[in-house]
Amino acid sequence: MKNDTIVAVSTPPGVGGLAVLRLSGPDALPIALRHLSAKTLVSRHATFCRLDDLDEVVALYLPSGYSGEPTVEISCHGSIYVQQTAVQLFIDDGARLAEPGEFTQRAFLNGRIDLSQAEAVADLIESVTPTQHRLAVSQLRGGYAKKLKELRQQLLDLTTLLELELDFSQEDLEFADRTTLRQLLSHLTSHVSCLIDSFTTGNALKRGIPVAIIGKPNVGKSSLLNMLLGDERAIVSPQPGTTRDTIEETFTLGGMLFRFIDTAGIRKSTDSVENMGIERSLHAMDNAQLVLYVHDITTPWEPPTLNLTGKQVIVVMNKSDLPHDDSPLISQFSPLYISAKTGDGIPALRDAMLAKVMETMPRGDESLLTNVRHYEALKCVNHALGQVALGLDEAVPADLLAVDLRDALHHLGTITGEVTTEELLDNIFGRFCIGK
Ligand code: GDP
Repeated sequence: MKNDTIVAVSTPPGVGGLAVLRLSGPDALPIALRHLSAKTLVSRHATFCRLDDLDEVVALYLPSGYSGEPTVEISCHGSIYVQQTAVQLFIDDGARLAEPGEFTQRAFLNGRIDLSQAEAVADLIESVTPTQHRLAVSQLRGGYAKKLKELRQQLLDLTTLLELELDFSQEDLEFADRTTLRQLLSHLTSHVSCLIDSFTTGNALKRGIPVAIIGKPNVGKSSLLNMLLGDERAIVSPQPGTTRDTIEETFTLGGMLFRFIDTAGIRKSTDSVENMGIERSLHAMDNAQLVLYVHDITTPWEPPTLNLTGKQVIVVMNKSDLPHDDSPLISQFSPLYISAKTGDGIPALRDAMLAKVMETMPRGDESLLTNVRHYEALKCVNHALGQVALGLDEAVPADLLAVDLRDALHHLGTITGEVTTEELLDNIFGRFCIGK
């Protein structure tokens, strides 16, 4: 644990009305006081004073701030010159420029927050939509990590008992009750499995609900995408099959992020560039949760040829501005009539998209896995737990059981940070900006 004093500007880089500088570490207060006109800073009180001859500032001293260490926060005017000079002043006086995320890393190392909460801080800072914000706040409050920590502790207790048996192996003693161990294992396994299953939804909410627009060439998929996005990103052409690549675009609807995966037009083609696009489109389809199947209303109806099992599908009849017959055959699909040219029916389509997605949303956020690192760790946990269960069935010796239990404990521990490596911490905190 580094115990030097760090400094950084915590507000975004650039000019602003105000900027906030943060000093954190054992010498935060003495270093700050050497440059402030105030004789002292009363803890948790804002003090208006001068910072050398540089600026008039408001200084706040927190004996245990965000980082869990003595912290001084200084609000100065947001001039780039003032910010840079102030930081340099403190560096010249013994502070060190903070690494990205170092304040949060210290909060973790000082036990103020666990690792999953530190990650939630990054998610909170990055959140753009109300849903992303809600998920980050839920995780910051403890979310599913709280329950995992409890279960890990119970598993740890049992593992310790089991390992105790190894010291008395001659005497054939059983300290760890196998029935209790089985019960805990099955409880933990089902809990972890639920979390793993929730990742698809959690990830979709965080990164955007993946939507594929499919249909034959020239039915108006690119035009629809443009209409929904409100810009001209995809290439629209009267030639069939001109949207060659998959283009990802996002837009927000009802506070929820949707991530479009534009498709190259699903059709057999002899053109190799086109084929590549189709392959990618099929792949995109696999990853889609919601599928918009677009049909050109001026041509005879054809149902989708791709397997859409497990997908939420909306049938979109496009080009309603052109003369057409209303085919009774397709009413079973409850199609929506739109014109990607005039915009007719687009609001109704947006509503339908949101309604479809809401159908599958779980109620609470606490049991929603949103973090890919946690997802990977939990898959390892489940594998290790499976090995323990197998070992119990085959009555393997305690030392072998203990190995798999330790493996499960290890992976569980990486989620909340009972187990860490330098590489893991660097990966997590490297994502942060300087000053957080
Ligand atoms: P894609 O191949 O399915 O992506 O189809 P495009 O979006 O490239 O559209 C093919 C052609 O149909 C273009 O000339 C569009 O201008 C036209 N088009 C698309 N939507 C509509 C619509 O709602 N009404 C009319 N009249 N033309 C449309």
